[in-house]
Amino acid sequence: MNPVRVRFAPSPTGALHIGGVRTALYNFLLARQTGGTFILRIEDTDQTRYVPGAEAYILESLAWVGIQVDEGVGVGGPHAPYRQSERKALYKPFAEQLVAKGYAYYAFDTEAELEAQRERFKAAGSSTFQYGSQTRMQMVNSLTLAPAETALRLQRGDEHVIRLNVPADETIHLHDLIRGDVQVHSSQIDDKVLMKSDGMPTYHLANVVDDHLMQISHVIRGEEWLPSAPLHVLLYRFLGWADTMPQFAHLPLLLKPDGHGKLSKRDADQMGFPIFPLDWTDPKTRELAKGFRESGYLPEALVNFLAFLGWNPGTEQELFSLDQLINAFRLERIGKAGARFDIQKAKWFNQQYLKHKPTSELTPFLKTELAARGLPIIEEKVARAVGILQERITFPHDLWTEGMFLFVAPTAYDESVAAKKWNAEAVAVIRAYQEALANQDHLSATTAKDLLEQTTQALHIGTGKILQALRLAVTGRGAGPDLMVSMEIIGREGVVARLAHALNTLTVKT
Ligand code: GLU
Repeated sequence: MNPVRVRFAPSPTGALHIGGVRTALYNFLLARQTGGTFILRIEDTDQTRYVPGAEAYILESLAWVGIQVDEGVGVGGPHAPYRQSERKALYKPFAEQLVAKGYAYYAFDTEAELEAQRERFKAAGSSTFQYGSQTRMQMVNSLTLAPAETALRLQRGDEHVIRLNVPADETIHLHDLIRGDVQVHSSQIDDKVLMKSDGMPTYHLANVVDDHLMQISHVIRGEEWLPSAPLHVLLYRFLGWADTMPQFAHLPLLLKPDGHGKLSKRDADQMGFPIFPLDWTDPKTRELAKGFRESGYLPEALVNFLAFLGWNPGTEQELFSLDQLINAFRLERIGKAGARFDIQKAKWFNQQYLKHKPTSELTPFLKTELAARGLPIIEEKVARAVGILQERITFPHDLWTEGMFLFVAPTAYDESVAAKKWNAEAVAVIRAYQEALANQDHLSATTAKDLLEQTTQALHIGTGKILQALRLAVTGRGAGPDLMVSMEIIGREGVVARLAHALNTLTVKT
């Protein structure tokens, strides 16, 4: 078997969206698993859709998620350059070779003539105009013009394109590793432009020529390219490369979070699906929700989530490091059915990864928040706080929102909890508890708990009945991490002061 050489071939037309990152990831996994090569090629032949900054965005996104490029833009390699605009001169001879063999032809139709044809078809109520086997003989091209006329026009430099001469009546077969045999009748395919009048190749020609020259073994890309694949099969055959044609795998669509319809760029913009926000496109997208990176997703959690959008290992295991994915990934286990993009699942993965992170990797997030507020940073306290918070958070910034009460006394109390739980019994226990605490010289979670038990027993009140009121007094909230450990972290003096403040501030509603 030839070595695996796969490529990710984005067009720099905007932010790299999440579907693109998945495509890159699957290519990368196959390359790493087989000891093959992962190539990054930038397909920028459509100058009208070029967005400055998009290429840098793609490179940064891949680097952030941990996908390393072996060969390609930003790295170099034996097939450089890897930016199609820089390979411009290379494509034309192939197009001309196709013309010489009768597989393609020069077409001189002006935009006005093409438009007139479209109008004629519309007026006649027939199907929409397609430049192809049914119509090409009525158009202005090297098939209908006398050879001398064609030669003259070319010599004069008349504007023209080169179109593929698609066979009139043929079933084109394509074996897709995910979908099996895919068949398309050639009448469905129009005579696609291969070379544009500006001298640039179109996507189809450049893509096939480069995949061949770069010795690509597998083309793994989104389902939206499946309709183009039969055309590419024809091109491989006409260029004499059918024997070394890459294998195709068209990945399942990503569906909207509710499962209805395709996940669109618009969904992505609105819900913040790019890796990080764009500040270089139009003002509308500047408003966009944060990207994954800014929202606080860990790259390893995002990768794990993306791997499961279309693939599964066939076991119950859900948490996979990148190395484990490299081992477990199989192209054959990618499904055909669309994969629902469920952001809740992405959050679940993030929670799992945060939970299992060494505390030391998360303390910086909390320290930054403390520093920003001019609060003292006591290493041991920060580490302990992260320790009790990390299994409760979805994003690193939740460390502060969930755990600020460990560092600053509440200035307000959750009113609904107060209304339900702040009663005469609670006040009696908390007052007695405050006195008992005042006589302690050190507060540990165990002594906090023992003292509370003693206090409630002496007053014949069940601990469970007043626990939420105590939490309210200490934290201002009705829920949070282990209260006894929280009190130990806050420290005896802090807790006593908080209880006193709550007793002075909160009133028992009768
Ligand atoms: N340039 C195409 C894109 O932007 C690549 C399609 C392919 O992988 O063949 O998605």
